[in-house]
Amino acid sequence: MSKEVKAWGAISPEKTEPITITRRAPDDEDVGIDIKFAGICHSDIHTVRSEWGKITYPLVVGHEIAGVVSAVGKNVTKFKIGDHVGVGCMVNSCRQCTNCQDGEEQYCYSGAVMTYNGKDPKDGTITQGGYSQYVVVDQAFVLRVPESVPLDKAAPLMCAGITLYSPLHHWKAGPGKRVGIIGFGGLGHMGVKLAKALGCEVTVFSQTYSKREIGLQLGADNYIATSEPNVFSALTHKFDLIINTVSASIPLELYLSCLRRDGSLVQVGAPEKPLVISPFSLDAQRVGLHGSMIGGIAETQQMLDFCGEKQIFPEIERIEASYINEAYDRVLKSQVKFRFVIDISTM
Ligand code: NAP
Ligand code: ZN
Ligand code: ZN
Repeated sequence: MSKEVKAWGAISPEKTEPITITRRAPDDEDVGIDIKFAGICHSDIHTVRSEWGKITYPLVVGHEIAGVVSAVGKNVTKFKIGDHVGVGCMVNSCRQCTNCQDGEEQYCYSGAVMTYNGKDPKDGTITQGGYSQYVVVDQAFVLRVPESVPLDKAAPLMCAGITLYSPLHHWKAGPGKRVGIIGFGGLGHMGVKLAKALGCEVTVFSQTYSKREIGLQLGADNYIATSEPNVFSALTHKFDLIINTVSASIPLELYLSCLRRDGSLVQVGAPEKPLVISPFSLDAQRVGLHGSMIGGIAETQQMLDFCGEKQIFPEIERIEASYINEAYDRVLKSQVKFRFVIDISTM
């Protein structure tokens, strides 16, 4: 049977408030999940503010979902009632194209079905995200949360965790590699923890020194405040890989000049406004400018298992649902250390 559940939805670009939504009845392949925690990703804010294009209100966002299985369809083999599970940014894809076959469902040539503001192929509705009590997702897009990962801390791994793990993995970050992380927010702090766990030397590029102490505590070897004069001159040609997590458009030239020959700058931040670069900043050392979007399902499971084994968790601030609007304002002011996680029991 379908279910009416409580949720917290954006009713305009400026406001989210309690609403009720309907979740479809689980089909044979579906898992019904009682959501316990949902992380607040900056992408939620870009979306509700219609910065990535006009959306239809009300919309329930949230793609860092952690919860407990409470229903399973008859063909579900991967999960049973009571299991701790997670759902990230995708809930389906074509499963036929070469990218889906390669386990890179996020790059599905037909377009992966996003957890919110996507079109659900199972019932044709607009998908609604994790700021809600319950969700129904095909077992192929549900992740197993290892026992060693607390559910509240598992939530941000579903987006922030995999979005940094995937490029670190793809560009072979490991011992002997110098990695820079631009922006020390939700994504950035996971980048520091993961790069450090992989054995890299890690440098944070933040706007100010205000988070320096905690940055060093969390594993950064160096911490640069980009607003200070002349900080870049000593860093020329020093890095193998730099990942830009900044949610606004920033000039990339200075960072490209920090790459060694054939180094890579990977853009994961998704600002509303385009990035401008001079071709010379790419030519000079044959450096690459790349993008990367979340990670595939198998890779996300690998990341969760890695985090469980190495005890790598996000730094979170648990909040009540009624705090979401204020939390958004604080994210926009970079005043969160480092991820807000909504306690769904407060809904
Ligand atoms: P966040 O917690 O707000 O962190 C972004 C950080 O960027 C801030 O903490 C701040 O770092 C820095 N920053 C913000 N405004 C800036 C400005 N005007 N100039 C310079 N630095 C600035 O956001 P998040 O959740 O980590 O997400 C970051 C971005 O990644 C968003 O655009 C989001 O949509 C995108 N995203 C992409 C993917 C993907 O798959 N590619 C997945 C998830 C999110 P400091 O305080 O250290 O300066
Ligand atoms: Zn996200
Ligand atoms: Zn596909």
